[in-house]
Amino acid sequence: MTTIANNLQQVLGRIAQACTDAGRGPADVALLAVSKTFGADAVMEAVTAGQRAFGENYIQEGVDKILALRASLPVSQPDVALQWHCIGPIQSNKTRQVAEHFDWVHTVDRLKIAERLSAQRPDHLPPLQICIQVNVDGGTTKSGVPPAEVLDLARAVAKLPRLQVRGIMSIPDHAPDFEAQLAIHTSARSLFDQISALGEPGLEGFDTLSLGMTADLEAAIRAGSTMVRVGTGVFGGRTYPAP
Ligand SMILES: *Cc1c(COP(=O)(O)O)cnc(C)c1O
Repeated sequence: MTTIANNLQQVLGRIAQACTDAGRGPADVALLAVSKTFGADAVMEAVTAGQRAFGENYIQEGVDKILALRASLPVSQPDVALQWHCIGPIQSNKTRQVAEHFDWVHTVDRLKIAERLSAQRPDHLPPLQICIQVNVDGGTTKSGVPPAEVLDLARAVAKLPRLQVRGIMSIPDHAPDFEAQLAIHTSARSLFDQISALGEPGLEGFDTLSLGMTADLEAAIRAGSTMVRVGTGVFGGRTYPAP
């Protein structure tokens, strides 16, 4: 077994254990393998090991990998259809590439970016799946909207024709231990519950809580995460600077 296949098995084991500890089913939590800074060959190894959903932070790097994987996978096999998630900041001049190549965006925190993504989403593709990024612990240097503004932004994004609002995402600052991680993730969960309970038109598909990374996935799953974004745990340590 390759290192990546072995790592994947370990991460899936951690997810399954965390689900058991939280009284949840292992199918309640999806694994997004964060492949930033790793090459298409590493992604292919993960695909061979059964992984299908990948997260990328840097738009150009992500698009290059999407195209490389598409070229090396037989399109006629729907069981190897990959799902690509943009989890990095998006500048206005990059929205077209995101709209044309990715399936999901976790980092919408401005209506202007959402409007461009909707306008630029090609007609032959399904709607782009959107999470609103929330700055849940008030970190001043980070992207994400304050919790109090998430509902208004979600409603505005839901009106855009080529986007579908799926939930919220957050990247809290590093917290020292499980309890501290759990407290922060639980505040994201509460916000998620408030919005999904509204059941408003346009927000019926609000089912995704994108929370947790390699270091804190157990706390995120306890808090209610439905999608953990794991880079280091799957691909190993990253060498910066990224491309
Ligand atoms: C890099 C990154 C991850 C993965 O982080 P690890 O600690 O390597 O698991 C998850 N989410 C976002 C937004 C990231 O940028």
